[in-house]
Amino acid sequence: MATIIPIADQRTLRSDSLAAFVRAAAATPQPEGPLLDERGRPLSDLRISVTDRCNFRCVYCMPKDVFGGDYPFLPHGELLTFEEITRVARVFAGLGVRKLRLTGGEPLLRRKVERLVEMLRGVGDLDLTLTTNGSLLARKAADLKAAGLSRVTVSLDSLDDATFRAMNDVDFPVAKVLEGIDAAAVAGLTPVKINMVVKRGVNERSVVAMARHFKGSGHIVRFIEFMDVGATNGWRMDDVVSAAEIVRMISAEMPLVPADAHYRGEVAERWAYADGSGEIGVIASVTQAFCRDCTRARLSTEGKLYTCLFADAGFDLRMLLREGCDDEALRRAIVAIWRQRSDRYSEIRTSATARAPKVEMSYIGG
Ligand code: SAM
Repeated sequence: MATIIPIADQRTLRSDSLAAFVRAAAATPQPEGPLLDERGRPLSDLRISVTDRCNFRCVYCMPKDVFGGDYPFLPHGELLTFEEITRVARVFAGLGVRKLRLTGGEPLLRRKVERLVEMLRGVGDLDLTLTTNGSLLARKAADLKAAGLSRVTVSLDSLDDATFRAMNDVDFPVAKVLEGIDAAAVAGLTPVKINMVVKRGVNERSVVAMARHFKGSGHIVRFIEFMDVGATNGWRMDDVVSAAEIVRMISAEMPLVPADAHYRGEVAERWAYADGSGEIGVIASVTQAFCRDCTRARLSTEGKLYTCLFADAGFDLRMLLREGCDDEALRRAIVAIWRQRSDRYSEIRTSATARAPKVEMSYIGG
């Protein structure tokens, strides 16, 4: 069984030395030149977790026995405010970030998240997206579009109602998520992407049906290998259905041909239907790690910056914000954090690293 680190401990892990690094960086002019990390990777994508809470208890992400009624979720005052998030996003945009994704937890649970979308839209002409479980999307899609959201990604792990209800573990029906997907399409939050995490023995039988259902719809299903994020989902390599196997299963019924990536660092490997009726993606972060092209930073709900989904600690930007730093100090800190980055967790994953302490995905943002 994996070591379970309560969030309270995660938040203080190595925090003194990281805080000292952030403070020193903020006070030190950074050398000019392109912003590349130690492995030559640029920074072009920021994921922002707007809440660590979720109304689902997906068994592979927020298992009920860990995230129960007494789980210490962050109190409201610890969350970055919309003004703080927007300020940080503006500095990131100045450093070359062109894509922002709101996530969580369940981002649509954050009160007035449309207002945040509107504020982020004001940052500039960015690709502004959001990942959601879809439960509140039918209600919110039009407002999100009006606020300036570019598009959405909706998580849906099976079209089989019993399987889906068991996976979200709160008995939530497939039909409501499909309503949300339809509402997003009608609102113009397109192309709608649909994320399906595939776990062996749980929902791999739903793969082909999912592909079939959305083929020709204009929506893009992305099949995700089950990952060892966090320390609570009991991950084992045996539970991973590889991207290659997923492509084989779908292609046996609906032939697929490889398609080129849109840009460096695209997470999903693209496959097009040979008959021209659309495409799917596979996210092979376990069997074909893509660290070498990873251009993503992650801002946690309480303003810690992580440079890897599998990190065990983050850099506290909220501390700088709440100490009254100016944008230049914030910029210097982010530049220094990115330049010292060398992580490549997925490339060096073993069953031993899978048991190492890591922050939970619901906290850092998926
Ligand atoms: N609540 C939102 C949602 O459901 O999409 C956003 C947060 S969720 C953590 C983001 C994505 O991470 C979802 O598509 C989810 O399925 C995926 N995810 C969570 N745990 C995962 C795991 N262990 N392996 C692979 N993907 C995972």
